[in-house]
Amino acid sequence: MTVPEADAPPLLEQDLCTGCAACCDGTLFTHVEVTRDEEQALGHRFAMQSRETDAIFFQPCPHSVCQSCQIYTMRPETCRTFRCKTLKAMRASEIESAEAFRRVDEMLKAREQLQPFLIAGETLNAARDRRAHIAAKPERTAVETAFLLKLTAFDLLLDRYFRDSRKAMFLQRSSGQAAA
Ligand code: SF4
Ligand code: SF4
Repeated sequence: MTVPEADAPPLLEQDLCTGCAACCDGTLFTHVEVTRDEEQALGHRFAMQSRETDAIFFQPCPHSVCQSCQIYTMRPETCRTFRCKTLKAMRASEIESAEAFRRVDEMLKAREQLQPFLIAGETLNAARDRRAHIAAKPERTAVETAFLLKLTAFDLLLDRYFRDSRKAMFLQRSSGQAAA
């Protein structure tokens, strides 16, 4: 997440993540899953929602401040082990570091260009809920259509470069099933 694994992460990876934080700030995900033990240990730090076998807290994460994790040493296992597609590809030398930084830059610029389409103070996840509501309407205004297309293009960019197939919103899952 904001900074990759603590076991001597290469500086390049730290630079990439501290300039991004998309996996913490609600850009990529709606929530983070934690174990029952983590729910107990970290419950006072997050507004957790218990589920049948685990718990979740919602993003944007309250501990992501200035693209940095404020509880880095005690962050949950999901955060410790997460690597987006671009970070994994850079680590595996499948892409040059310059390409990884270019992707983050492209994502940040696209997110900035999305801002005029959002309601003041609206998070990306709230905007996604609004998109679902608009998409279900039989008719929509030109402004609503523009918003829908812009946000969906952004989510496709995130699927392409950052979310793996299991978490993808629109691109095909590896099983061949479309994401919900
Ligand atoms: S989305 Fe990827 S590059 Fe960005 S902070 Fe998370 S792991 Fe790092
Ligand atoms: S706990 Fe830290 S690493 Fe996990 S989502 Fe929050 S800011 Fe990111």
